[in-house]
Amino acid sequence: RVEELKMLENDGNTRDTIVAIATPPGVGAIGIVRASGPHSWRILEECVRKDIGTERKVRYGNFYDSDGNIIDEVLFVGFKAPRSYTGEDMVEVYCHGGILVTQKILEEFIKKGARLARNGEFTRRAFLNGKIDLIKAEAILQIIEAKSEESLKLAIDNLKGKLSGEVSAIRKMLIDVLSKIEVTIDYGDDIEIPREEIVRDIENAVQFLSEKLAHADKGIHITTGVTLAIVGKPNVGKSTLLNRLLVEDRAIVTDIPGTTRDVIKGEIKIRGIHFVISDTAGIRETEDVVEKIGIERAIREASQADVVLFLLDATTGFTKEDEYILNIIKDSNFIAVWNKTDIGNKFSKVSKDGDDVYISASTGKGLRTLENKIIERARPLIEDGQLSHVTTRRQLEHLKIVYQHLKKALKSLSGGYPVDIVSIDIQNALSELDKLLGTNFTDDLLDNIFANFCVGK
Ligand code: GDP
Repeated sequence: RVEELKMLENDGNTRDTIVAIATPPGVGAIGIVRASGPHSWRILEECVRKDIGTERKVRYGNFYDSDGNIIDEVLFVGFKAPRSYTGEDMVEVYCHGGILVTQKILEEFIKKGARLARNGEFTRRAFLNGKIDLIKAEAILQIIEAKSEESLKLAIDNLKGKLSGEVSAIRKMLIDVLSKIEVTIDYGDDIEIPREEIVRDIENAVQFLSEKLAHADKGIHITTGVTLAIVGKPNVGKSTLLNRLLVEDRAIVTDIPGTTRDVIKGEIKIRGIHFVISDTAGIRETEDVVEKIGIERAIREASQADVVLFLLDATTGFTKEDEYILNIIKDSNFIAVWNKTDIGNKFSKVSKDGDDVYISASTGKGLRTLENKIIERARPLIEDGQLSHVTTRRQLEHLKIVYQHLKKALKSLSGGYPVDIVSIDIQNALSELDKLLGTNFTDDLLDNIFANFCVGK
């Protein structure tokens, strides 16, 4: 598929020229507009009314609109395929960072035949042109989104090929194994089957994968943050607590029970650890359809969260509604948090360890203690054990499947079956590795990955 697309691309005009403002919206010292594709050089040369000249060399000039008016004084640079980010002909224009200036430059490109790039389309083209594999594409997104030193480091390592290299090494080894097996099939009795060698190779891969898998959660937690869900019956103070934790007002605080119907997310850093925190719909038994959907989501959120804050109301004490919720979350990593302690004192012990926390989301009382408790629960997730360069669920899922195929192969081999019986398992493992790297991909998969990118990347 990649080969096919590469051939199409060699034809030059088969692809659109895309353009986007690469800098964030708003006012800044410099704004960057970038374009990629067969017409990028031509369009820019028309706009600046001079040659781009040598590739990768910055030039200075005026940028004109179609009526001959100067939009701005700019610097610009051209890149020739394949020596560019996307692997195609590309140009970048550095203008003054006003909202109108960048917008007008963008519009000129569009008037002259480019189209607006979709989210992540530059990186998508880099992938399709074989400049990067999917793990590296994910790493680029992670660099942009990195919120902690550790996540940045992991992402840079992967952009430099850490995980891709390890995965490719396994891939190469499996291809070797497969060809050893195929030789024995083709030449039958004339060739001695290196059975032990094959078993050893597969065992090595399994060993490597099991270590990767054992520590994968850590890399994912560092990259995406530790998830924290706030659950509790309606009106217990979930939104108030979320706002407290977020400092900024992301959730609507109201007096009517059942109004936080969707899951509201925010991100916070407590003592250097990055958390994705969600305020869920108040969980209670209900006949209301919309509320039911919210509650189902809340339950799902709670069951997937790394840490759950189970909020209880000190003015009502432990009620039937709380019991209903406790039943749902009892197996999760939850902390029982008594809220509204400024106006109530009806407590009972709810935590497994009897270590309930007492706060007032309104006044902020007890918040430090709560944060300490959260950190205590979160720390093992990102600090224990070896560092793994598996950084997304997608990577983890593919590696798990590869592992299962190879385990199956080993089982057949130790059961004394002929060596060639495992070639199907190895082929399956290889095809899964191809999906992981992106040698084998579907448009849906790419849409999924690149939808999270910003326009212009
Ligand atoms: P939610 O439905 O669980 O999200 O609850 P809200 O955050 O919307 O809070 C419900 C009501 O309880 C609001 O009127 C809040 O001001 C109030 N409330 C929340 N936390 C506290 C608290 O710690 N003390 C007091 N006195 N009131 C609180």
